[in-house]
Amino acid sequence: MQFDYRDDQLAVRDAVRDFGRGRIAPSAEKWSENGAFPLELLPELAQLGLLGLAVPADLGGAGLDALTIALVMEELGAADGSIALTIAAHNSLCIGHLLVAANDEQKRRWLPPLARGDYLGAWALTEPSSGSDAIAVQSRVVREGNGYVLNGTKQFITNGGVAGFAVVTAGAGERKLSAFGVLRGTRGFRPGKTEKKMGLHASDTSQLVLEDCRVGERDRIGADGEAFNDVKKVLDRGRIGIGALALGLGRAALGTAIGYAKGRRQFGRPIAEFEMIQWKLVRARTQLDAGRLLVHRAAALADCGKPFSVAASKAKLYATEAASRAANDCLQILGGYGYLRDYPVERIVRDARLMEIGEGTSEVQRIVIARDLARSAS
Ligand SMILES: Cc1cc2nc3c(=O)[nH]c(=O)nc-3n(C[C@H](O)[C@H](O)[C@H](O)COP(=O)(O)OP(=O)(O)OC[C@H]3O[C@@H](n4cnc5c(N)ncnc54)[C@H](O)[C@@H]3O)c2cc1C
Repeated sequence: MQFDYRDDQLAVRDAVRDFGRGRIAPSAEKWSENGAFPLELLPELAQLGLLGLAVPADLGGAGLDALTIALVMEELGAADGSIALTIAAHNSLCIGHLLVAANDEQKRRWLPPLARGDYLGAWALTEPSSGSDAIAVQSRVVREGNGYVLNGTKQFITNGGVAGFAVVTAGAGERKLSAFGVLRGTRGFRPGKTEKKMGLHASDTSQLVLEDCRVGERDRIGADGEAFNDVKKVLDRGRIGIGALALGLGRAALGTAIGYAKGRRQFGRPIAEFEMIQWKLVRARTQLDAGRLLVHRAAALADCGKPFSVAASKAKLYATEAASRAANDCLQILGGYGYLRDYPVERIVRDARLMEIGEGTSEVQRIVIARDLARSAS
């Protein structure tokens, strides 16, 4: 496997790195304190192609491959977890589902405004009683006339309260799902409760409520009752993005900890000279690098059309746990200051924790990998 990045991939990475350092990171703490996504950022995100990462150029997107998107997500994660998660849900999940399953007319209808940043997109799979077992939903789709009536509540939806468009799944019979594109303002479709979270405070997480919401046949994405297959494909790519985002978070914590350890003196020496500090720094750097190899391998497999589902699970599992471990160790290196909001590390610790849960928990990734082991052992 080759890890020579093309010049165009590095150029995109560098542009996003500059934007992250100049425009996102300096405001991350303020946005977190405000507890809301800064919608005023949308035009700049769109300008940089960040709202249509994989959308083809003829539909207004950046047309990037999976490896370049992984590079982008790491840079965004290094700048701020909340902005990165907002962009991940918009691109990998909402747009990702359209790219996997929408027909040409739907792509022309929905992708250009999403890529232009007219509004954010959301992807609503989870429900109050169905998370890991995502197909065991309570929501219901009923056929009526030329369309459908949707009822149910979607839980934990990133961008749910601020999105102008959502891909919504609902139960279409015993362990069957259908998916629909629904615009904000559609009668019977509204945001519900906004969740108060441990971290990622500038990323909106809300319920979405469907109450006799009528949608047309032309709004159904993919085959009737077959959306779960599309969901699995969406999540496979999404997991690469979450792995990359987590690496960015870990990298940002490590950068802060290295600088701090060189400057902080105890017992007459910089703490960076103590072996126990070095050990933490070394473990973080080594495991983040290993995570990056797994993430980029999964992305490279996706880009050359090879199966990448298990590789994506390994990448997400390892990279997100490495990032959380790294962030925690970095907080420890900062001692009492690590616990204060004066440094970004405590926020990163809180933000990184979600990456082990969203888009399939670590346990779910282990199930995917174990099933693959069982298959290859037989
Ligand atoms: C901030 C945030 C943003 C999110 N954004 C979105 C979004 O945009 N769209 C969306 O649809 N969803 C979203 N989610 C939902 C997220 O994907 C789910 O929370 C996640 O999949 C886990 O589901 P659950 O919370 O219902 O946990 P559960 O499935 O109830 O799991 C509880 C625990 O049991 C474990 N478990 C479950 N099944 C097994 C098993 N078979 N073996 C071993 N252990 C098991 C889990 O790993 C976990 O530890 C978001 C969640 C959060 C917190």
